[in-house]
Order: sequence, then C-alpha cells, then structure tokens
Amino acid sequence: MVQLADLQRIAGEQAVRLQEPMSAHTTFRIGGPADYFVEPGSESVLKELLLLCRETETPFFILGNGSNLLVSDEGYRGVMISLRGFDEISFREGESTEAGKTIMTAGCGVLLSKAAMQAAERGLTGFEFAGGIPGTLGGAVTMNAGAYGGEIRDVIFSARVMTKAGDVRELSAEELDLSYRHSIIQEKDLIVLSADFAFAHGDEEQIKEQMRQLNTQRREKQPLEYGSAGSTFKRPEGYFAGKLIQDAGLKGYRSGDVMVSEKHSGFVVNVGKGTCGDAMRVIEHVQRTVYEQFGVELELEVKRV
Ligand SMILES: Cc1cc2nc3c(=O)[nH]c(=O)nc-3n(C[C@H](O)[C@H](O)[C@H](O)COP(=O)(O)OP(=O)(O)OC[C@H]3O[C@@H](n4cnc5c(N)ncnc54)[C@H](O)[C@@H]3O)c2cc1C
Repeated sequence: MVQLADLQRIAGEQAVRLQEPMSAHTTFRIGGPADYFVEPGSESVLKELLLLCRETETPFFILGNGSNLLVSDEGYRGVMISLRGFDEISFREGESTEAGKTIMTAGCGVLLSKAAMQAAERGLTGFEFAGGIPGTLGGAVTMNAGAYGGEIRDVIFSARVMTKAGDVRELSAEELDLSYRHSIIQEKDLIVLSADFAFAHGDEEQIKEQMRQLNTQRREKQPLEYGSAGSTFKRPEGYFAGKLIQDAGLKGYRSGDVMVSEKHSGFVVNVGKGTCGDAMRVIEHVQRTVYEQFGVELELEVKRV
C-alpha cells in the first residue's frame, strides 16, 4: 500500500486528503471513506501517481463527477484520483476536420454543462444533448454518454489517453470503439486526459432554445430533487427499463432511504440518508422481480465501486 508521505511528495500536501467521504463526491450522496483522495495538478503528476500505485500494488480509481457511481458503505481501499482539475477548454475557430466544422478541445474534468454552454455561445451545434448530463467529459467519453437522440460518438473526433503505465496516446473516434454505454476506455483501463469534438455552425439562439427545452423535459420527467446516479439500469434490448419496473408494480419500492422513484421508475433515488446497502437491496429486488415477471435481465448501468 502507498504511504501518505510519498503521495504528498508527488502531488503536494494540499492535493491529498485522508479518509475522504465519497458521499461528498457522488450525485447519489452515498459512499464511505476513500483511504486516499488525490487531485493531481498536471499530467506528469498523474503519471507519477500511477507509477507509484503500480510499484506499491495499490488499487486506484479514476473519478469524474461521480454521477454514475454507487460507492460501497465501507468506502474505497486505495487511491481515489479526482481529475476535476483538468478543466481547460479551447476552440479552434475555422480549423476543420470536415468543411465548416470547429474543434473544441476539452480537458477530462470539464463539466458537460459548461462545455455545451460554451459551444452554444459560439453558435456551435451538436452538443445540445449533453447540456443536462451531470458528468465530466472524461466520464462521458468513457460511458459514451447520450440523451435525446445524441451521444458522444456522434461528435467526438479524437481523445488523448494515458495508459496505466503513464504513456500518452491519441485515439481516433473509431479506435475509441464507442457503442451504447461502452468504450475501449473501460475495456483497456485507459484514462481520458482530453478530447477533441467537431461541431458544425448553427444559430446561437436556436441552439440555446433547444438546450432550454431539453432541460425542462429533464426537470419534468426526472427526480432531480433527490440524489441518484441517473438511469440505474441499461436499456434492455426491445424494452425500456423504467416501463418494466413500473409494470412490475415496483414504483416507490423502498429500503431505508433508497427507493424506486415515484416520478421515473428507471431511477433509484436517495431520499435522505440512504446507504449503499439500501440501494443494493432495492436494485436486487427490482432485478429479481422484473426477471420473474417478464424474463428480462436488467443490467446495471451504474458502476459499483
Ligand atoms: C440526474 C442524472 C441524469 C443523468 N442523465 C444521463 C443521460 O441522460 N445520459 C447519460 O448517458 N448518462 C446520464 N447520467 C449518468 C452520468 O451523468 C453519465 O454516465 C456521465 O457521463 C458520468 O460522468 P462522470 O464524470 O460523473 O463519471 P463518474 O461517475 O465519476 O465515473 C463513471 C465511470 O467513468 C470513469 N471515468 C471518469 N472519468 C474518467 C477519465 N477521465 N478517464 C477514464 N475513466 C473515467 C470512472 O472511472 C467510472 O468508471 C445521469 C446521471 C444523473 C445523476
């Protein structure tokens, strides 16, 4: 296991926290303490951290905005690496991959809401779908996040990634192998450092209006007033998870402070001081009941840590 002094030497004293509650870093507001919580200030520091973890055989986990995670009540035994500080964003106006497209380069820690708004302010279209997804660009590329008919795969041009050995590579959109909530990043345990997106030019007001409408739809349909990690389950082929759960009579099914949302059955929500134990009891009951009633296996979209 790593030593505190080594982490502090590499990342700086201010960048290392001990026993950091993960409930403070996840939108589910669930999760016990991480042994070490580190915010590297640069790619070279990140590389040194990875090498130290490898040398000392210490597990590490890359954290974005924690909006797709369910962390155990016991927390995380190892180093939680938060990349929220990798938040630079720039545009290369006029430079294009295809005629008329502009490239946005964004660090993995940039929030999708911020990137979508900055693109809109430049009259760039294609990222409207992402404005209401509460994740970072790194998490979104890893998950091939999508909504309302758009997904990362449609607009990404390339990504700079780091391997566990600290080597940096550039992967093209094809090499990222993006499909429904899947990417090569997950398969090969890569780390997204930044990504390039190609956007066409459109009308700024229309783009912003579209984003406002999508956010209104989200507020109306999703239980945003409670902690959650978004859609709990992946969409099973030929079905909608929320509809199956509702038809199984599970709306409002509850364990402790965690329940199937009354507003949207596809969301499992934390309505108070919910624990990971509560969440897993609800999740497993839902999976069992839906399988018994409809023969459909619900696979978790949320990642367990
Ligand atoms: C209210 C709500 C609504 C949501 N709506 C949607 C939606 O419409 N569409 C959708 O697709 N998702 C949705 N989500 C889920 C979530 O926001 C997305 O999956 C998002 O892309 C996760 O990003 P994150 O930064 O929070 O990642 P995290 O939750 O921190 O991490 C998710 C995974 O990505 C990995 N990861 C994070 N950053 C990196 C990196 N830089 N390099 C390598 N791996 C990394 C983590 O290790 C983990 O495996 C919603 C969630 C909530 C709470």
